[in-house]
Amino acid sequence: MEGKVCETIHRTLCAQFPEERRFKSQQNEGRAEIRKVCSEMEKKKKGMEIQGYPIDGLSIGGHETCIIFPSLRLAFDIGRCPHRAVSQDFLFISHSHMDHIGGLPMYVATRGLYKMKPPTIIVPKSIKECVESLFEVHRKLDSSELKHNLVGLDIGEEFVIRKDLKVKAFKTYHVIQSQGYVVYSTKQKLKEEYIGLPGDEIKKLKASGVEITNSITTPEVAFTGDTTSDFIVDENNADALKARVLVMESTFLDDSVTVEHARDYGHIHLSEIVNNAEKFENKAILLIHFSARYTVKEIEVAVSALPPPLEGRVFALTQGF
Ligand SMILES: [Zn+2]
Ligand SMILES: [Zn+2]
Repeated sequence: MEGKVCETIHRTLCAQFPEERRFKSQQNEGRAEIRKVCSEMEKKKKGMEIQGYPIDGLSIGGHETCIIFPSLRLAFDIGRCPHRAVSQDFLFISHSHMDHIGGLPMYVATRGLYKMKPPTIIVPKSIKECVESLFEVHRKLDSSELKHNLVGLDIGEEFVIRKDLKVKAFKTYHVIQSQGYVVYSTKQKLKEEYIGLPGDEIKKLKASGVEITNSITTPEVAFTGDTTSDFIVDENNADALKARVLVMESTFLDDSVTVEHARDYGHIHLSEIVNNAEKFENKAILLIHFSARYTVKEIEVAVSALPPPLEGRVFALTQGF
């Protein structure tokens, strides 16, 4: 009833005062604008999906990087601990620059707060001790438990996430010790000689201890963290360039920064990716870690101008710019 009265008063006022009418239409426009912004934010929040993998997170060079693969229950790096990272059970750290590791204690603390299972954190073996000390200091500071499993992984070593999923560290080339990660899926495939055999015979063979399957390992996702383009030409890194999705840094995009400058700071310039284009066998490449000097428009223009064979399969993570 009260609403109706208000509306009647408002209509009367609008008729009497055209100014008020204009104000109302401005209000409506304002609301439409808010709705538009909200729906854009909602879209951004949902993240992207590449090659069947939903990908979330954000990455701004020097500020923060955290790339989340919710369907694999893992995240790579944690500059500031975005909320969506908290629900990932596995965290892989590429190197100890603050924009990649700064959110680590917060990630563990927040999982503790929500009574979630202690996370498993994989770090380069060379920094494991320092990370242990970091948690020790935080425990002293607030008497918290900060429960977690910490695993030091060397280049070439593997970590099994679950029966059909493992991760291997590969060498990257940054200004401090760093490494990237390749996630492999492993599937059991019946050996050729047993294909076509009746089910109970296969069962019998299996029960008698005969190895009836081959395990097929496929590189699914690779994450570089910070690195120069030297990682591309390292023969040991072939799987990273074959992974279905490669998440790769491309800190610099245009002539405002030279390739030499990019190399001096341990980063990749987009022109180096173009020059090595034929080496990437990936179905899709997600570029991350752009310098904060660029606008979304500049990033989108640079990526959409990429020539074949990169054209159409390179994406840019512009969340947060
Ligand atoms: Zn960085
Ligand atoms: Zn770095």
